[in-house]
Amino acid sequence: MDGTAPLTTAPSLIDRFGRPITYLRLSVTDRCDLRCVYCMAARPNFLPRSGLLTLEELTAIGERFIARGVRKIRITGGEPLVRRDVTTLIGNLGRHVGASLDELTLTTNATRLALHAERLVSAGVKRVNVSLDTRDPARFGRLTRGGDLSRTLAGIEAGRRAGLQIKINTVALKGENENEIPDLVAWAHGQGFDMTLIEVMPVGDVGEDRADQFLPLTTVREVLESRWSLTDIPDRTGGPARYVRIAETGGRLGFITPLTGNFCAGCNRVRLTCTGQLYTCLGHDGALDLRSAYRDGGIAAIDARLDEAMAIKPERHDFDVSRGAGPAVNRHMAQTGG
Ligand code: SAM
Ligand code: SF4
Repeated sequence: MDGTAPLTTAPSLIDRFGRPITYLRLSVTDRCDLRCVYCMAARPNFLPRSGLLTLEELTAIGERFIARGVRKIRITGGEPLVRRDVTTLIGNLGRHVGASLDELTLTTNATRLALHAERLVSAGVKRVNVSLDTRDPARFGRLTRGGDLSRTLAGIEAGRRAGLQIKINTVALKGENENEIPDLVAWAHGQGFDMTLIEVMPVGDVGEDRADQFLPLTTVREVLESRWSLTDIPDRTGGPARYVRIAETGGRLGFITPLTGNFCAGCNRVRLTCTGQLYTCLGHDGALDLRSAYRDGGIAAIDARLDEAMAIKPERHDFDVSRGAGPAVNRHMAQTGG
């Protein structure tokens, strides 16, 4: 289709608590070239490729979300850049940026960003989130179970050179990057990158007790405050992060606190897995199958499922990481689309 042609519009997505759903996280694969210890098991059972939504289906469903009022799409996974046709998808959806879509972006581990950065920029991507939990090569290798830090750093550099705005996402991990976080913040801000810290969430069994990984961001904030002056700022980037400005670094730091500060009241998002399962909440089971809806009934059937989704989206998640508590849901983050 002609990217400048408006999509046929339809009633906006508003859930039963009156929250407008304007943000879609679209997973294109559950596969990844890393095995982060909080995200996946060491030997994950990846889905058969035949189960994935095709490029045509991802485009059609993505465009239907846009027609129903979604203004921001984040492509994710697994690692989105390991899917071969992902840049075509980004090109297809990118045609709506500046018209019916405010932003098309992605979350990546950056190992392949150097290969794709220029194409992403031409497709209309302006910002990417890069996940980086440490700048220590040995710790990086341990946390990703074998990853090579230099590839991620080279990807970040290539992204910057191509003109992408970069935000660093860091999961706070007890006894791992705990003491490194201030240095990571100083580095990111020194590079001109925003940064967001994330509490580890109990999603999927990763073979470790979450209580051993969990580091509350209230503790991290105290440590940062003993070193720098943090001022709360009202900035929002369409997600659950709450931001501070650090006077000494001049940079912005976000906190995503699903455990210590529930952020569900302002939830504006839904997640579509790479097999077309629509999850209305990261912390709840129960999905609507958009793939079979689309295959059986086309766009009209997608619309019916989306209306159903608005009627069942839960008010909030109920994460708990106390010792011995099982995962809140059995899906890993890489399956739902983190
Ligand atoms: N592979 C890409 C990446 O790492 O950026 C995109 C997918 S990854 C699942 C998306 C984000 O989810 C990453 O920032 C990762 O750190 C985060 N994540 C994965 N498992 C998590 C968990 N259990 N708790 C909190 N964040 C998690
Ligand atoms: Fe892969 Fe991202 Fe999960 Fe790490 S967090 S294993 S990079 S999907």
